[in-house]
Amino acid sequence: MRSPILDYLDTLIAETDHIVGGAPADYIPELAAADPDTVAVALCTVNGTVYASGDAEHHFSIQSMSKPFAYALAIEDHGLDGIREKIGVEPSGEAFNELSLDPETGRPRNPMINAGAIATHALIGSEHEPALGRVLDFFGRLTGREVQLDQAVADSELATADRNLGLAYLLHAAGQLAGDPQESVTGYIRQCAASVTVSDLALMAATLANGGIQPRTGERLLCRESTRQLLSVMATCGMYDAAGDWLTSVGIPAKSGVAGGIIGVLPGQVGVAVFSPRLDGHGNSVRGVEMMQRLSDDLGLHLMEAS
Ligand code: GLU
Repeated sequence: MRSPILDYLDTLIAETDHIVGGAPADYIPELAAADPDTVAVALCTVNGTVYASGDAEHHFSIQSMSKPFAYALAIEDHGLDGIREKIGVEPSGEAFNELSLDPETGRPRNPMINAGAIATHALIGSEHEPALGRVLDFFGRLTGREVQLDQAVADSELATADRNLGLAYLLHAAGQLAGDPQESVTGYIRQCAASVTVSDLALMAATLANGGIQPRTGERLLCRESTRQLLSVMATCGMYDAAGDWLTSVGIPAKSGVAGGIIGVLPGQVGVAVFSPRLDGHGNSVRGVEMMQRLSDDLGLHLMEAS
């Protein structure tokens, strides 16, 4: 029998069909060429059942949704105290590509903005194991399949990476970058170009909802403390400079990416993912935000609401 959850997700797609505001990101030429009407949604329970609707097989680049997972690897490597010394946890209130540094310590404000994410990427690499390989391997364990790079997206962003290179050189000058600026940005941009579907993302989010254990394989991929830390940072800093609006209205830890994806996590319950390429001024998917809002309202996901 067809699950009522699938019917619900189909309705969600149909009822948001009229939302055509915003535009695909254009600072990465390959993203500007995305079909703006592609749309998909997926939900994964903490027992690993995935429900997906819309263009569920469509692959797109993970972009900033990679940041919390790279941060998790950095926590596992350096410990919570070690990573807190290097990267802050305060929302910046500024655009994702600003050089937001704590004025007292010089640390990047948080790992969800580009400056913090480039610094994070540099922290998880070593001579023996480059950061990119580790991240892709981690994505493979989280999704249960081999995750590939979208080379066209990576090349396109690498050709227009002046701003991220600028951030990396400034971080390096401030003693806040563990690697070479050029290499760190190249690796970070490739990390962002990992190609995923909404079902992959829902499973990744469900692993976080499940306290770090991949619900299908049963493998513990993150310890509970790392999971708690990264979900807390997603809650306060995950939606760029719209994080406060998001937490009050949708009310779950989330992370968006400039290709048009958003993941959300309700701890102990469910991981959700949506995709639609048209973005608002903050860089969040317009239709994706509306779908997430409806999911939160209809399924009672808001964390601050007593059940
Ligand atoms: N690779 C993108 C950048 O650094 C990621 C941005 C995003 O998704 O917010 O500009």
